[in-house]
This record gives sequence, C-alpha cells and structure tokens, in this order.
Amino acid sequence: MSEKQVKKDEEKEALNLFLSTQTIIKEALRKLGYPGDMYELMKEPQRMLTVRIPVKMDNGSVKVYTGYRSQHNDAVGPTKGGVRFHPEVSEEEVKALSIWMTLKCGIANLPYGGGKGGIICDPRTMSFGELERLSRGYVRAISQIVGPTKDIPAPDVYTNSQIMAWMMDEYSRLREFDSPGFITGKPIVLGGSQGRETATAQGVTICIEEAVKKKGIKLQNARIIIQGFGNAGSFLAKFMHDAGAKVIGISDAHGGLYNPDGLDIPYLLDKRDSFGMVTNLFTDAITNEELLEKDCDILVPAAIANQITAKNAHHIQASIVVEAANGPTTIDATKILNERGVLLVPDILASAGGVTVSYFEWVQNNQGYYWPEKEVAKKLRNVMVNSFETIYQTAAAHKVDMRLAAYMTGIRKSAEASRFRGWV
Ligand code: NAD
Repeated sequence: MSEKQVKKDEEKEALNLFLSTQTIIKEALRKLGYPGDMYELMKEPQRMLTVRIPVKMDNGSVKVYTGYRSQHNDAVGPTKGGVRFHPEVSEEEVKALSIWMTLKCGIANLPYGGGKGGIICDPRTMSFGELERLSRGYVRAISQIVGPTKDIPAPDVYTNSQIMAWMMDEYSRLREFDSPGFITGKPIVLGGSQGRETATAQGVTICIEEAVKKKGIKLQNARIIIQGFGNAGSFLAKFMHDAGAKVIGISDAHGGLYNPDGLDIPYLLDKRDSFGMVTNLFTDAITNEELLEKDCDILVPAAIANQITAKNAHHIQASIVVEAANGPTTIDATKILNERGVLLVPDILASAGGVTVSYFEWVQNNQGYYWPEKEVAKKLRNVMVNSFETIYQTAAAHKVDMRLAAYMTGIRKSAEASRFRGWV
C-alpha cells in the first residue's frame, strides 16, 4: 500500500471514531431526556487550536511540526487531557479524544471538562534535545489557552514525565512563577503524585476485579491476553501476574507472544524497551490479529484504536473484554460482542484511572501538601469501584449496554452544568 493510501485510511479511521462518538453522545443525551440543543453543544469541542511549531533539529535544519489542542466543554471546570506525540495524530482524533475526556471526568466525578492535545511527530526517531525543543515550542504555541485553572495537559501515547517536566518548566518561565498545577504526570520531585505512573493500569485492574465478580469467574488462574505492552499494558501484565492470574498473551506494534501455560511476565518486563517493544526479540511471535482471537477468559486491548471490528468480533473467545486503550472496539463490534453475551467494560470507564490520579496530583499541587501512595491507591479504588457499579446499574436499569450506560453517566455532569449556566 502506498504512503498516501495509508494516510488516507488513517484519516478515515479517525473520522469514523469521531462520528461514532457523536452517534453515542446523541443517543445518551436522548435517553437522559435532553433537548436537541444540548446535543448541538456537545457534539463538537468548544475550542480547537491548530499550531505550527518550528524546531531546530540536531543537523542544523528547521522542521515545522503541526500540533493541536482541543477543549470540549468547560462548563464543569477547567478542561483536562493528555498530549499525544505520534505520526498518526489528526485533528479528528484529537477532537474525539477531548470528548472522551469529558466523559471520563464525568464518570469519575472530577471537577473538569475534557481536553486533549497532540503533535504529528515520531518521537522514536528524534533525539532528546529535539524532543525538548518540540515540547517547549508546543507550550509556547498554546500558552494563551492553557493553565492550572483553564486547561491542564498530561501524558498520553509516547509522552512521559520528562516531557511533562519540560512543559511545566516552559510554562512557569512564561508566567514568571512556579506552576506545578499547569500539567500532571510530572516526576515526583517536581510535584508529581505517588501512583500516577501506574494509575491507568491500577484502574483497569480494579475494573477486571469487578467484572470477574459479575461473571462469577475467579481472577486466580484466569487466562488473560493483553494487546500492547506500553505504560498501560505492561503495568497491567505485572498486576495481573502478581494477582495470580495467568497472562497467556501480550503484544506490541511488532507482533504477539502466546503461551497457553502462561508467559514469563517478569522476564518480558525486564526486556521491554521504553517504547513498549519486546516481541522483536523472539522468533515465534504471532500477529496481533491472531493473538486477539486466541482462547482466553479476559481480553484487554491496551494499544490502539479499532482493533476489534465487525470482521473479528465473532471470533473473540474471551467472555470479558476490558478496554484499556481508547476506542479499540468499533460500534458494530460492540453490538456483536453484546449479542454474544461478552461483558464489555468500555474505555471511558476502564481507563479513567489515569485522569483520576492526575486530578489527585493537581489537588496536591494546589494544596502544596502531598499524599502517600497508600492514600492515593485507596482514593483511586473508591472512585473506580463506584464508577463501575454506577455504570453497571445504569446499564441494567435502562436496559442498555455498558458503553451507552457509560456515555449517559459521563455526559450528564457537563450537560447539567451547561444547563445551570444557562448555555442551553
Ligand atoms: P504506550 O505508547 O506506552 O504503549 C503503546 C503500546 O502499544 C506499545 O507496546 C506499542 O508497541 C503498542 N502498539 C503500538 N501500535 C500497535 C499496533 N498497531 N498493534 C499492536 N500494538 C501496538 O501507550 P500507553 O500509554 O500504554 O497507551 C495505550 C493505550 O491506552 C492508548 O490507547 C492510550 O490512549 C490509552 N490510555 C493510556 C493512558 C495512560 O495513562 N498511559 C490513560 C488512558 C488511556
């Protein structure tokens, strides 16, 4: 396939993600009894900024990168959401992700609306210095619309605590005062929270614990396949392994490893690189497509979008699917899995642990008072268990699937805040 065709397919995928998000929001608002005007407000972000960032490269040339910052709805409070560095970032994707952040914040009952940012770049091919200059350039470009009480960024795909540190430093220099609350996911010494790095995987773990209870399965010895071995997937593999579950499959962008007797997770964690790659060290790797269809009890897509589609949904053998990644299952596939009795825990619930601990980090920054890891873990557990139960009960009460129930729960707070403010 030509490079142009690949780009076109990626753009189509992002547009589909955005359109399917709008479709479910429309249905959620209708079920909640809101008038059509509320959908008109919620269907698009309130603000979308596109920036061009010139970066001096190590070889003396200048490369101009395109970046975005989308702010979906700030009726509840400042917007909040990660910044993604990836070659496939697009305007439509960033818009959809910012809407999902509104939903996640609503589900976890955080005082935020949703935001998201991204830069079209490939950090795997950039030096440390180039990445720093790009990160600082991005903050300068978006500085007018972000801030601790306006819009608070965080890490996402291929961005980490070092990048957050550069961004926080740049923002603090611009404002001429220390501003740890401008961004979350920082290193601990710069005001990061205990437990932030593992928060998403912790949240997914709690959802798995709740889901197995509903299905009457024991987590001990349950067979789990995890697609993606990055921040979310690798910590999850560790937590599942520590809990006595059998991780029988993992994968990365290169391919998958599968062993029905269980993989050596500590060994794989030790060998993985900082981009979540490990399968390239093995000669018996299978494809990601093959891995998803292997027999298991719990399947966790923790990599990229559109992995479970109408094409393979009939062949998924897991009885529980927990979406750690954003948008891994299409609308058609969701319908097929539900019809087949698979318990699908949707992304906006399962991966809400990251933004929840980001909120805890921001609260600690604002207070200048820092909590021990145990306290963070306890507070996170409370939020995740309550959120899971609320959505499970909403699904039962309205006779809808968990995804629609999650959208109903997630959009309600922003819709109510917009109504009280007199916007609709
Ligand atoms: P990451 O960059 O740390 O890791 C991504 C992993 O996916 C890597 O192992 C990579 O090799 C693999 N991968 C990339 N392309 C792939 C492909 N085509 N097929 C299979 N595997 C592929 O990212 P992450 O932070 O772990 O995020 C993973 C997913 O979880 C994303 O959808 C992200 O939006 C979502 N998420 C992450 C967080 C978080 O706090 N990290 C929070 C919420 C949601």
